[in-house]
Amino acid sequence: MSRGRLKVQVYAGGELVPPLQVFDAVSQNTVQMGHAAAHYWAGKVPAAQFMSAMPFGMTAKGMNAWLYLGGGLELWRELYKPFNLIPFPAGNTGVQMGGWFNKKIETVDDLKGLKMRLPGLGAKVLAKAGVTPILLAGGEIYTALERGTIDATEWAAPFHDKRFGLHRVAKYYYYPGWHEPGTVLELIINRQAWADLPEDLQKIIEVAARSINQWIYAEFEALNIKALREIKAQGRVEVLPFPSEVLKELKRLTVETLDEKAAKEASFKKVYEAYKKFQADHAAWNAISDNAYSKALQP
Ligand code: CA
Repeated sequence: MSRGRLKVQVYAGGELVPPLQVFDAVSQNTVQMGHAAAHYWAGKVPAAQFMSAMPFGMTAKGMNAWLYLGGGLELWRELYKPFNLIPFPAGNTGVQMGGWFNKKIETVDDLKGLKMRLPGLGAKVLAKAGVTPILLAGGEIYTALERGTIDATEWAAPFHDKRFGLHRVAKYYYYPGWHEPGTVLELIINRQAWADLPEDLQKIIEVAARSINQWIYAEFEALNIKALREIKAQGRVEVLPFPSEVLKELKRLTVETLDEKAAKEASFKKVYEAYKKFQADHAAWNAISDNAYSKALQP
């Protein structure tokens, strides 16, 4: 797009800095741009989690509407400003899967004592249900599950999960991904590096990020179909829904978790309220658009 004026050299996680240090590296201008997901930075910016995935939150459709046109991106920029970072939405996973388990989950009690890899607020919610959440970068998950360091894990959806080989080390694949119904990936740029760019190159980055945002979402949707088919065909993994009683309890614990965090932290409360309002308004529209249409499609 820039006819060679803007060169982006891409490094995989761990090549230049460890995957969970992307935020710091871009913040300190060690690297000028990074690609990650905001919920990894929950320890530094608790409200950033609203910018990636909320348990029982909005799907990709709602997140895009909120971020681009509903005030979400402005709030996100405000949150990252003290860290010299400018964020852009740059990818969406769509509705994720609930995760890989080696134990059947039939009641809420079955969650107690499980060591599960899970980031963000979903981890806080599961902790209330008795799970010990563990944060591991993607590349460490397979070995941890294989060796039994963890009993369960989530990653994303069939397309990416299968690449990690998780279907070879777990028995049950649960759905839906209540904890990540439409995870937004982020492009973060150091403020100084951004300021050094001429206006047209800034525009190119903005447009490229929007294009990637759409492309990754389409890629997940298209390639999940094939990957799930292959996982099922292997015949080793059972694909199961979480029982509705379990989902109901997780939903209750989600509201409890979010209310508690909002009571403790002003910026979390501010973003929570904006998010909740948009989600409620969007749900009313969704009820007579996507949801009504899905019902109409049922036999
Ligand atoms: Ca995930």
